[in-house]
Amino acid sequence: MKEILIRKFERMGISKKVISAFKQVDREYFVLPEWKKAAYEDSALPIIAEQTISQPSTVVLMLNALEVKEGMKVLEIGAGSGYNAALLSKLAGKVYSIERIKKLAEFAKKNLKKAGIKNVKVIHADGKKGYAKEAPYDRIIVTAAAEKIPNVLLKQLKDEGVLLMPVGPAYGQELIRVRKKGKDYLYEKLGGYVFVPLR
Ligand code: SAH
Repeated sequence: MKEILIRKFERMGISKKVISAFKQVDREYFVLPEWKKAAYEDSALPIIAEQTISQPSTVVLMLNALEVKEGMKVLEIGAGSGYNAALLSKLAGKVYSIERIKKLAEFAKKNLKKAGIKNVKVIHADGKKGYAKEAPYDRIIVTAAAEKIPNVLLKQLKDEGVLLMPVGPAYGQELIRVRKKGKDYLYEKLGGYVFVPLR
């Protein structure tokens, strides 16, 4: 099953680095026991508190667009199951992942531990404020959607940094990539997605 997904990602043009990260992390550790058999289907699955672990092809497309390089400091908003943070941990140096729902922050921590991942710190907090304590970041990825990119997040980006976030109404959003160049922020649209809301 994992092999089928890998071939799909290759056809999609996902980078070798991102595919290698996908190979290194078992998604089974991040889904509920009753969904283990479906861990390598290309679909989002329910976790807890009405949230979902994102669809694998969406996860790798976002990681591909984030252009993470070795040693980078990355901030994720929306830890959820911790799966995306786990993949990020294989691409970056250190990952900070913020989760608003306490139970989910604990779920993510537990899953990351089971998967043997050590360079991710999960923080129970409101990600709309970013995480000033460790700012600025090379990369920021928001895995929940909102109508607007919070200004504080843009401020926590390093020069030459990249932020990725689905922006738009609840029924469907556009994935936006922002590149910070000195005082300027360059915006790109990367296609349509549906994410759970940033609250
Ligand atoms: N990245 C996750 C999936 C994201 S689901 C994974 O790999 O499994 C989106 C997550 O964003 C949910 O867990 C939701 O609780 C969280 N979220 C929503 N609003 C948030 C906020 N303001 N701050 C932090 N997390 C938030």
